[in-house]
Amino acid sequence: MMAVIPTGPIGVTILGATGSIGVSTLDVIARHPDRYRVVALTANTQVDRLFEQCRAFAPEYVVLADTHAAEQMQPRLRAAGLETTVLSGVDGLETVAALKQAQQVMAAIVGAAGLRPTMAAAQAGKRILLANKEALVMSGKILMDAVRENAAELLPIDSEHNAIFQSLPGGYSCAQAPRELQAMGVQKILLTASGGPFRTMDKTRLESVTPEQACAHPNWRMGQKISVDSATMMNKGLEVIEACWLFNTRPEQIQVVIHPQSIVHSMVSYNDGSVLAQLGNPDMRTPIAHAMAWPERMASGVAALDLFDVAQLDFEKPDTERFPCLQLAYTAGETGGTGPAILNAANEVAVQSFLDKKMSFTDIPRIISRTMEQTTIENGETLETILAADYAAREMARALVSGNLK
Ligand code: NAD
Ligand code: MG
Repeated sequence: MMAVIPTGPIGVTILGATGSIGVSTLDVIARHPDRYRVVALTANTQVDRLFEQCRAFAPEYVVLADTHAAEQMQPRLRAAGLETTVLSGVDGLETVAALKQAQQVMAAIVGAAGLRPTMAAAQAGKRILLANKEALVMSGKILMDAVRENAAELLPIDSEHNAIFQSLPGGYSCAQAPRELQAMGVQKILLTASGGPFRTMDKTRLESVTPEQACAHPNWRMGQKISVDSATMMNKGLEVIEACWLFNTRPEQIQVVIHPQSIVHSMVSYNDGSVLAQLGNPDMRTPIAHAMAWPERMASGVAALDLFDVAQLDFEKPDTERFPCLQLAYTAGETGGTGPAILNAANEVAVQSFLDKKMSFTDIPRIISRTMEQTTIENGETLETILAADYAAREMARALVSGNLK
């Protein structure tokens, strides 16, 4: 039987439509109505924003992870004359990640909550536009195997990984039989980091920074969790592990480079002395448009880079003493197995506890390292083992936060 080549607009499901990445994705789609059509949108609890998105894009499905929120959505859609079907819960998220009328799935749920729907997209053989780095950090091997076995595609949305992908030889695939980096003449990956809002802050002052200060990123407007991760540099640590899976390599081949302007989004260093980079204004619509249109190019709405305006590009070494989360992530990445899932779970609990003002900013690495020390690492070959490690690490981290464990 001949493969059916879809004609007309490409169907897109957006997991996490109401978030920072989701909104940027819809902005790109709105610029190309002949090329893309929104099939499904999902959110956790944000009924109002999701409803407005439904009015603008008339998707076939919406999902609210929260059942109560889903109940509120149905009558509002009917009253507005929309035929959209409302689903709820993780099952609903998995359903819309696998719909046959959606060829592309934007995985933009934050945290471990994105894992099961992203897996469902892989199992259904979709083009996955991967923003949800936590899914890959937790269960890189399982997710990559699912992508391969089901002939899915995986394109990185994280700006650094998208830049690395663009700087690798043409035809490189993250998913299908990825070549060894050495075989392509790659010496190392240079992963850039802005350094976050506290890059130059004295160690003694870090103790008392507030969630508001931590969320005020100098270059990017993002969700709260990733903003705090950028401030602790755990975001870069998670990205080292993410890069290992996407580019079939090991943590020691990845060098973190602080680049405060966030113009060079990452680089690949080759053994002939060449360093290839991707540059652009810090705006996620560039990697989103790149991954959606790949291997073609399309307009994203991002202004052209004005190098005279930028004027200067600086590079520095990271300071792992002031930002211990980066080293914790390297350790978890080198250990492998359930190590990265434990790191991620402890980090999610610690970040939320900091945002809820239950503990200080500098408690974040303390909680994570204590959780890592006290949780047994297993090989992590099945999703069940990963989810069990995630659960146990969350329990441990919560107990540490509430002071029930010293
Ligand atoms: P955000 O907080 O702005 O949005 C998160 C989205 O996930 C929302 O739509 C929310 O409703 C949904 N969500 C949250 N918890 C959920 C749950 N339990 N079940 C179902 N849905 C849930 O986050 P963001 O900044 O858009 O980031 C999303 C992902 O993209 C993260 O993994 C982040 O690391 C990654 N990322 C973001 C950026 C950025 O610029 N914002 C850049 C690179 C990577
Ligand atoms: Mg990034």
